[in-house]
Amino acid sequence: MNPLSRLPSVDRLLSAAAPAALTESHGRAVVTAVVRDVLAAARAAIKDGGALADEAELIARVDAGVTARMQPKLRPVFNLTGTVLHTNLGRAPLPEEAVQALIAAARNPCALEYDIESGGRGDRDNVVNELLCELTGAEAATVVNNNAAAVFLLLNTLAQKKQVVVSRGELIEIGGAFRVPDIMSRAGAKLVEVGTTNRTHLKDFAENITPRTAMLMKVHASNYAIHGFTHAVPEAELATLAHQHDLPFVIDLGSGTLADLAAYGLPHEPTPAEAIAAGADLVTFSGDKLLGGPQAGLLVGRKDLIARIKKNPLKRALRVGKLTLAALEAVLALYRDPDRLHLRVTAVRQLTRPEAEIAAQAARLLPALRSALAGLPVTTEIVALKSQIGSGSLPVERLPSAGFAIKPQGKKGGVLNRIERSLRALSMPVIGRIEDGALLLDLRCLQPHEEAEFAASLATLNILN
Ligand SMILES: *Cc1c(COP(=O)(O)O)cnc(C)c1O
Repeated sequence: MNPLSRLPSVDRLLSAAAPAALTESHGRAVVTAVVRDVLAAARAAIKDGGALADEAELIARVDAGVTARMQPKLRPVFNLTGTVLHTNLGRAPLPEEAVQALIAAARNPCALEYDIESGGRGDRDNVVNELLCELTGAEAATVVNNNAAAVFLLLNTLAQKKQVVVSRGELIEIGGAFRVPDIMSRAGAKLVEVGTTNRTHLKDFAENITPRTAMLMKVHASNYAIHGFTHAVPEAELATLAHQHDLPFVIDLGSGTLADLAAYGLPHEPTPAEAIAAGADLVTFSGDKLLGGPQAGLLVGRKDLIARIKKNPLKRALRVGKLTLAALEAVLALYRDPDRLHLRVTAVRQLTRPEAEIAAQAARLLPALRSALAGLPVTTEIVALKSQIGSGSLPVERLPSAGFAIKPQGKKGGVLNRIERSLRALSMPVIGRIEDGALLLDLRCLQPHEEAEFAASLATLNILN
């Protein structure tokens, strides 16, 4: 008998007990599609000379296929990479206040562009305008999709077909294809590079101001540092020079936290308030870097310039939605109390966690990890680690941290790759890093309320081949 004809039909497989139960929970369309795929693959395998899969095996494949298909793509993970603001893992986790605000805005109609007092039309920027002005000392503010969009919109509004003077040492590339010269040309502005890579002086700017100059610009070199024989022009001097020529002075701050993180023992990162106080006319920064909020690009500064930016039709194309504004408003509100940021803003809490607290957490979790890895040719120890801030913020700084180092007992490192893949296959994937022949799990970002869930998850670890 032709083995192909011994394969069950789609209908027969669908009516078997297990697929019928799957249909009940996931719907007939999904299960039928997976059954067809499984049968097609079985047919192809037979044609290639493979064995006929029995019905139980086919049902198991349907079950696995449906589970895989129903798995959301945007899944939460445990970030044990040691990089706190990990761009590939969604940067800053939101504080609970922001999560609640976001859910409420998602679930209900909300006063997004509606003035509740007057009953008239409102402006969505008003949701955060006052808070941003209060926290930065600026006259006005607006919000777009991310900081790249903020810089683009600013250049396109104020410098189209005109020249923008920037120091050569600041023509940066940020991961994910943000490059100052490219953004500049796409925005229609002409870049005028002045000075040298390591040293730029006030006269370099002064000598390059022409009737076609639109602005002087400073870009915070957020993801690298130049040491040694260097010179950059202080912001206040650039502002004065720009104003002598009736030009705006703008700063792309990149990270731009709203509080001085030095108060928490972190390195000082320039704030928008400092930039405004130094005379900047416009400042842009990200919502989801050190600020610890949702992805957004914040523009603060002079009222007349913000008004021009808001009139640019591209503002409409780059605007943010109500979910972003809801989360952003809640996070900004937390900055009104700068003394408790380390307790309330998740990203700041993770960045400021003391090494001893993280090490104590590692000690509590070590037995669960060792038992999950029992029988494998590896050693598992608690080690001191260095976390990174991430997202290009404070690139050379390292935060003392703690976690696990899993090392192969023999010379072969293959077991580490297997463990690493197995951890990623957990229902809430665990993402670590392999470095110098060890699999490292940095616990800095494992929040205290997640500890029990993490331990329970380890108990389900299934080591893949
Ligand atoms: C991160 C960064 C950007 C891009 O910001 P996004 O919010 O990721 O779009 C632009 N400029 C600087 C200086 C940055 O650090």
